[in-house]
Amino acid sequence: MTPNDPYLLTPGPLTTSLSVKQAMLHDWGSWDNDFNELTAEVCARLLRVAGGQDSHVCVPMQGSGTFAVEATLGTLVPRNSTTLVLMNGAYGQRISKILDRLGRRCLAIDKGDYHPPRGDEVARTLRQHPEIDQVVVVHCETSSGILNPIPEIAEVCEKAGKRLIIDSMSAFGALPVNVAELPCAALISSANKCFEGVPGFGFAIVDKTLLSESEGQCHSLSLDLYDQWRYMERTGQWRYTPPTHVVAAFLQALREHEAEGGVAGRLARYSRNRDRLVAGLRELGFQTLLADEWLSPIITTFLSPDSPDFDFPRFYEAIKARGFLIYPGKLTVAESFRLGCIGQLHDPQIDAVVAAIADACQSLGMSVPVPPPAAAPDNLENQ
Ligand SMILES: *Cc1c(COP(=O)(O)O)cnc(C)c1O
Repeated sequence: MTPNDPYLLTPGPLTTSLSVKQAMLHDWGSWDNDFNELTAEVCARLLRVAGGQDSHVCVPMQGSGTFAVEATLGTLVPRNSTTLVLMNGAYGQRISKILDRLGRRCLAIDKGDYHPPRGDEVARTLRQHPEIDQVVVVHCETSSGILNPIPEIAEVCEKAGKRLIIDSMSAFGALPVNVAELPCAALISSANKCFEGVPGFGFAIVDKTLLSESEGQCHSLSLDLYDQWRYMERTGQWRYTPPTHVVAAFLQALREHEAEGGVAGRLARYSRNRDRLVAGLRELGFQTLLADEWLSPIITTFLSPDSPDFDFPRFYEAIKARGFLIYPGKLTVAESFRLGCIGQLHDPQIDAVVAAIADACQSLGMSVPVPPPAAAPDNLENQ
């Protein structure tokens, strides 16, 4: 790690390895074959991780993850079709906002801040609305940290003959998915989440047949995933200036992902981080928003203690002074904050952040264990 940089518990961007950062110390020609080979290897590796070699293609898109989501929806969703969005947080809401802007008809099952969409209710909605052509779901809703039941939803979509698009931004690379088996029309993610690259592009793993039927469907020139794919197939190049350094860093990140044992290796470390973090914070008196069964190994929401001494901006600064950046909460129902488990975080960093949080509580004048949160939210185990 670069000395004096704080650790980021804010996925993402997240803390990257020194070797990933060092991979950016070169300038690449965007037309040059040396760079085209990096892009080709990145796409081939991502396709393998997703299990889509025979059925799907990987198309990268410049920008943050949202650009890739917008490009995928704009390209794959027919203009006069209806889409069902499964919402349980900010990223599901963003998907519906994108479809709205694109003028695509959209229905939603909105579960509020943190309840999971379940297969039976999706099946019911699909029966009531036969006009629905595709379903969009968020894999890990990063706003609460909930891990949505993707296999259950994919099964319902397959039975009903509907296409499934998954925003797997904060899950792909650490949670197993096989796009051919699910099945799944498109899976979207980005460079700066579980693969531990730096921010600068996103990508979609798209069903090849579906993409090849999507010519001229996109409302946007720069976000046209079909055009990006065709151009890349023909020339090996990105259509417009690629984030060259980011791609080079990402290839290094993919090699490190493989060296760690791929998805299984990363899932093991992130799960361990989460378990250690949750156990440590529970010992300090903090409570998680979600019951254990719904906790993702990506990010966890903790409820703020009900104490006049707890003030998030001061809490944040006290933790930052001890070398860690944390995330504010994103709930409408309860005061909370979030801690990420992804990035270059290992046991020593997790133990140090728990100690930093204990210190921060004391510096705010709270005794440890801290008081419980104001209201216990409904118990998800009964959902
Ligand atoms: C990070 C993230 C995105 C994309 O966010 P950007 O800020 O555009 O990179 C989309 N969906 C989910 C679930 C995410 O976690």
